[in-house]
Amino acid sequence: MQAKILIVEDEKDITDLVSYNLTKEGCHIDSAGDGEEALEKIKSGKYDLMILDLMLPALSGLEICRIIRSNPDTASLPIIMLTAKGEEVDRILGLEMGADDYVTKPFSPRELAARVKAVLRRTSGKPAPEKIIESGDLVINKETYLVTRKGKPIKLSATEFKLLLFLAERKGKIFDRDRILDAVWRNEAFVEPRTVDVHIRRLRAQIEEDPDHPRYIKTMRGVGYYFDGN
Ligand code: CA
Repeated sequence: MQAKILIVEDEKDITDLVSYNLTKEGCHIDSAGDGEEALEKIKSGKYDLMILDLMLPALSGLEICRIIRSNPDTASLPIIMLTAKGEEVDRILGLEMGADDYVTKPFSPRELAARVKAVLRRTSGKPAPEKIIESGDLVINKETYLVTRKGKPIKLSATEFKLLLFLAERKGKIFDRDRILDAVWRNEAFVEPRTVDVHIRRLRAQIEEDPDHPRYIKTMRGVGYYFDGN
């Protein structure tokens, strides 16, 4: 886990504990003792995740969370809140204000590391917020489920659409078959990795001018597939 994490906490013991344990996991840890320092530091945009204590001097964790979420530059920064027992109301508020997860003190370092991993996994593939994805001649409308190429509508099955959308929302990222199965087929039983290949072929037949030399859905040999957004 090679993430850059900012921990915002005024209790040095906890900062040290978290820092020690997450560094062992391969993370790079930076810390801030209060909200002002934290907001200053995240301007750099270099952090993958923030661990944010609720109880802080001056700005509270909730206020910091709200400020981060309301600024487009920082809105997508994953946040794990640290709460103490009895702060249940604040915890709920925190999640409402956009924290991605929370950990209750006292926590085990292993639990925190597991949460960090889970949040990073969940947020690293976050889709773009736009309603329409355009790439070359291809236009995908996420709200109407309409796909066109050179202005002409393309008929896709629900699964083909989901598959196309999954890849197109994550342009350039390569996904192996298992990851695609997880995302597109979710919990459907009896699907095997080959299913992905079959649907990729069908999708290409529909959206590509020359399915044998795809412009959009590309294969990374031995790895998987990706949407070429260039
Ligand atoms: Ca504190």
